[in-house]
Amino acid sequence: MSKETFEFQAETKQLLNLMIHSIYTNHEIFLRELISNASDAIDKLHFESLTNSDLLAGESDFSIYLIPDEKSHTLSISDNGIGMNKEELINNIGTIAKSGTKAFLEKMLQAKTDNSPVSGKELIGQFGVGFYSAFMVANKITILTKKAGEKTAYKWESAGDGSYSIEECEKDTRGTTIVLTLDDTFYGDKAEENFLDKNLLSHLVKKYSDYVRYPIKMNFTIQETPKDADGKEIADAPKVEKTEVRTLNTMQPLWTRNKSDIKTEEYEEFYKNLFHDYEAPMKVMHNKVEGTIEYTSLLFFPAHAPYNLYHSDYEPGLQLYSRHVFIMDKCKDLLPEYLRFVKGLVDSPDFSLNISRELLQQSRELKTIGRNLEKSILKMLERTMKNDRPAYEKFWAEYGKSLKIGVYNNIYGDKAVTEKLQELLLFATSFEDKGLVSLKEYVERMPATQKVIYYATGKDRDAINNLPQMELIRDKGLGVLYLLDNVDEFAIESLREYNGKKFQSISRGDLQLDDVESEEVKKETADITKENESLIKDMKEVLKGKVSDIKVSNRLKSSAVCLVADEHGPSFAMEQVFAEANNPMFKAQRILELNPHHALFARLQQLHDLGKDEPQFQDYCSLLYDQALLIEGIMPDNPAHMAKLIASLMAK
Ligand code: ADP
Repeated sequence: MSKETFEFQAETKQLLNLMIHSIYTNHEIFLRELISNASDAIDKLHFESLTNSDLLAGESDFSIYLIPDEKSHTLSISDNGIGMNKEELINNIGTIAKSGTKAFLEKMLQAKTDNSPVSGKELIGQFGVGFYSAFMVANKITILTKKAGEKTAYKWESAGDGSYSIEECEKDTRGTTIVLTLDDTFYGDKAEENFLDKNLLSHLVKKYSDYVRYPIKMNFTIQETPKDADGKEIADAPKVEKTEVRTLNTMQPLWTRNKSDIKTEEYEEFYKNLFHDYEAPMKVMHNKVEGTIEYTSLLFFPAHAPYNLYHSDYEPGLQLYSRHVFIMDKCKDLLPEYLRFVKGLVDSPDFSLNISRELLQQSRELKTIGRNLEKSILKMLERTMKNDRPAYEKFWAEYGKSLKIGVYNNIYGDKAVTEKLQELLLFATSFEDKGLVSLKEYVERMPATQKVIYYATGKDRDAINNLPQMELIRDKGLGVLYLLDNVDEFAIESLREYNGKKFQSISRGDLQLDDVESEEVKKETADITKENESLIKDMKEVLKGKVSDIKVSNRLKSSAVCLVADEHGPSFAMEQVFAEANNPMFKAQRILELNPHHALFARLQQLHDLGKDEPQFQDYCSLLYDQALLIEGIMPDNPAHMAKLIASLMAK
């Protein structure tokens, strides 16, 4: 194969540009990125070799080498991991396949322009653009790589200028060597950061990569005094130069040490290193369990939820180790789906070293450990909520949605889990202008007359406060939970009730104001309904196919109409979610409610008296319905028609 030249994908080009010309003042992090890629590549080979030992071809001494070369001004990072073939070079290095890249670029540009608190430094890890960071210090990068089990080796080369080349090359050993031809500013005695300086390199490995599981080695030239036959130094003899290989990292797994001996910064460095994050985690949980089942777990909550947490391209899961030996990355079967944001690892002698993913799923030990982890996470959250509310609210802002999804996903699951989860939920309510309360706190504030937990959905507090139904509720001193997130209503619906108190939407079904409402009001509503039987019947005919029912309302005060959804079907907010998910089958049954005390009601009666075919009566019905839709935030079927009707009314 002769040399081929390829163009970087457009987005990659943009990314390279940013990388080379901008934001990072912290150049040194490229080393950690490349070392961690090398370590991942060894993990991959190790994992595949469990089922195919031929891949190792007898070489199972894994290591990563740093090779600074003064003559060529290059720094090489070499591993004997899985390596890449031509397709992989193109797909993994030439293209950024991840859907998040665009989001990354946008955020990065934003961070650059508006001095936002997210710096590029934080973003780089979150979006995994690690390899490209090497272009911050190198004006040319050469990759020499040979995939384990394959014969051909390849050389990839790019100056970061929009294109790269690939050609076949000679390489005896499997794995990858990344050769960075350093930019003038990054080597030599005058350089502020000299990345050929072995002391600096050793220091950086200690700082960022000490826990990497494989030895990171570098050759040192030392001057040695010759020794005699007894091993005694010969005085006055000229020193001889010798090469000594040193391992720069300790490799001692952090989690095997005593909790009390580990400093916060050590946990933080470990986390950043292992999970390619630039921010310290918001929570660290380190537990050692001994008993019928034995394991150590080290779990982290990232400071910020990853941008793609709820996307299918986000890979949840914990790392598995057995007696400190790495077995698997991203094991999904330990934690329930709703805890997918938790990162970390579990080390247990009860895991077998070469267990397949399929067998693992059925492993009883794994299930028990998973349940224990879930329990201890929930317990920790409960404690935080009780003892450190600001910290809990910070957690809630990032991961509250996950807990709500947990409630919903657990409908048919373990009741005990749901009971714990419901105590962890926070909502905005009409009882206070800002801040969040738990269900327990809400119930404590309910007036004695209130028997159910009212809730309303909307995009923000104002949208809900402006709902016609809210007026009466406020007048009666009742409290309403504000459901402002898509998933909220699903969670509430699956709970059904909290401590014996039913959840009741203010825009759905019967408001059940019975206990609050006087007998007189109820009787009055019934009487008006009876007197207006024919009006309601004819209105229904005009709005046929649009509404399933029309009622005289007892929930309205100053508004003329409102729309409510039938108790038994989905709500309007849920209908919206289904529609967004391309599932428009689930439609809410629309019930139009009329305020009998509004002047408009009398006008309707007048028009109706002229006959149900009276065009103005029909226009009024149609306008009332469109109004009710708008109040709920739903677009009328025919906005142009609505506008025309209003215009002609206004002209009268
Ligand atoms: P990330 O590591 O977050 O996936 P990178 O840009 O750092 O992103 O690397 C892109 C991909 O290139 C990796 O996912 C991996 O498939 C491949 N790669 C990078 N370095 C190596 C290496 N030393 N050995 C094998 N594959 C590598």
